[in-house]
Amino acid sequence: MPRTFFVGGNWKMNGSIQTSKELVGNLNKAQLDPKTEVVIAPPALHLLLVKELVESAQVKVSAQNAYHKASGAFTGEISVSQLKDAQVPWVIIGHSERRTLFGEADSNVAEKTKAALAEDLGVILCVGETLEEREKNETVNVVVRQLDAVAAEVKDWTKIVVAYEPVWAIGTGKVATAEQAQEVHAAIRKWATDKLGSQVADDLRIIYGGSVAAKNCKELAGQPDIDGFLVGGASLKPEFVDIVNARL
Ligand code: PEP
Repeated sequence: MPRTFFVGGNWKMNGSIQTSKELVGNLNKAQLDPKTEVVIAPPALHLLLVKELVESAQVKVSAQNAYHKASGAFTGEISVSQLKDAQVPWVIIGHSERRTLFGEADSNVAEKTKAALAEDLGVILCVGETLEEREKNETVNVVVRQLDAVAAEVKDWTKIVVAYEPVWAIGTGKVATAEQAQEVHAAIRKWATDKLGSQVADDLRIIYGGSVAAKNCKELAGQPDIDGFLVGGASLKPEFVDIVNARL
């Protein structure tokens, strides 16, 4: 079975009630490639509003983060169980901004992923190297270390989409070339083959994130191991639709 193309929009900590309504209104009016699975991740405060406003069954919502405990004295956090209860079907875990700005270690990412899957959520699992790590030729080692941490906790990868997001490309306008991205995606698929088996590896969606835009998405989408995108900045613009339609 070919892997379904997957495009996520990470709105990060942007927007208001009004702009969220406008963004969903634009998506509702757009012609989306019916073969693309679309998942948008508004700020937690706007999640349920956005979920209510989305008209197409093709578009689902995602949280940008979640805490692994079900409930308790964890001020400011939202649990995976609360997402499940609110019928939010996806969660982004391990985004580089969570790792670098909020100190999430590989072990935190692994326990959150495990907890989200236990609630039957889909997980967009982010991995990727810093510029310093790339310059030291450590890209694949870093990504494998991040994935191994999750594989130590998680056996079933069917509800995981891996987002390869080189940190140096996020929000910088500096997109990885199609060759650079394909090389790492192929390495991730090889890791999955070795660690999880060839069937799981064949089915695993590996999406690219980092300054994806209308102008560069088609070439990236043409690579054999690039199964979609996680889009930050451009998910707040009309060109998000062009990225969803990158394979048309
Ligand atoms: C992201 O935040 O996941 C991302 C890829 O951001 P941008 O597209 O803005 O680089």
